[in-house]
Amino acid sequence: MKHPVELPISQEIRNQVDKEIARQEPVPKDSKALLRVSNLKMYFPVTKGLLKRKVADVKAVDDVSFFVCQGQTLGIVGESGSGKSTVGNCVLRDLTLTSGQIIYDGYDLSQVSEKQMRTLRRELTCITQDPFASLNPRMNIRDVILEGPRVHGIEGSRKEQQDKVEQMLTLVGLNPQAADRFPHEFSGGQRQRISIARALALNPKFIVCDEIVSALDVSIQAQIVNLMSRLQEELNVAYIFIGHDLSVVRQISHNIAVMYLGKFMELTDSDELYTHPLHPYTQALISAAPIPNPTVDKGRQRILLKGDIPSPINPPKGCNFCTRCPYANERCREEEPEYVNVGTDAHPHFVACHMVSGK
Ligand code: SF4
Repeated sequence: MKHPVELPISQEIRNQVDKEIARQEPVPKDSKALLRVSNLKMYFPVTKGLLKRKVADVKAVDDVSFFVCQGQTLGIVGESGSGKSTVGNCVLRDLTLTSGQIIYDGYDLSQVSEKQMRTLRRELTCITQDPFASLNPRMNIRDVILEGPRVHGIEGSRKEQQDKVEQMLTLVGLNPQAADRFPHEFSGGQRQRISIARALALNPKFIVCDEIVSALDVSIQAQIVNLMSRLQEELNVAYIFIGHDLSVVRQISHNIAVMYLGKFMELTDSDELYTHPLHPYTQALISAAPIPNPTVDKGRQRILLKGDIPSPINPPKGCNFCTRCPYANERCREEEPEYVNVGTDAHPHFVACHMVSGK
């Protein structure tokens, strides 16, 4: 189905950014990856005393690499405190990286100026967890949707604005007649649809979806995930889809990274991860996921993880997961496992576990 909203507008943005940046020396543009993140580290200093002396670092993200292709989704799964939202914030350049590189469509995001970044933000955007908090209660839905285009000065004529609002509401499955209503008149799922319409109003190419279904009922979660999948197909938009429920993230992701204490423990394509999980942490997450069939659910073996995720200020020596892993041995407590590809070049399967890599 051809979508009525004109897409993409990217070349126009490209030209504008290129004019401003003059693409000094360009980072080679990968033909496949829209976003490429290499060795990303995001440490937050812990300070003490009046002089604010640095005494430690919170290693929120510690040497993470991945790429996302146009029209595809990378899911990032992990418990709260694992660093997955920080990865999203780094990609959106809301944080200044400790080290590493983020290349978005050929642009090194650490090199572009604030002004240039504002232009790129038209196509690199986010949707957040809480639809209740993220919508201004004093704005009607029309103004919510047009806020982004107005900030960027591309709202167009009155007629174009009207068309835009109607198209966006239709696109996310809401009644276009609802444009004059206010956020409190909608349910949680509907408000999340409004947040999605607001994000789409700038015709993005890449959206960081940060726990966008976590605050919703299970039945509504499925509707929103289906909506995001349909929009991806129609608009060829790429996502980073962050969540803590692997069974939800799996529904929309082409590849999934399992994150624990700032590091990727495992990364491969979604089906492979679900059918052949190699890392003990991934196995535990899958074994804990509910299965709708009670007979199957009753018969399967669960791996119960003891304790909580350790503090990122003081991560364990050796493997990050060693304090909770049922297979941990002396080596695990002393030596950090390498993050290696145990799959093939064509079907990579990265994992960080001594037991799996055999190294
Ligand atoms: Fe468990 Fe050791 Fe593998 Fe870490 S390296 S996941 S502690 S078996």
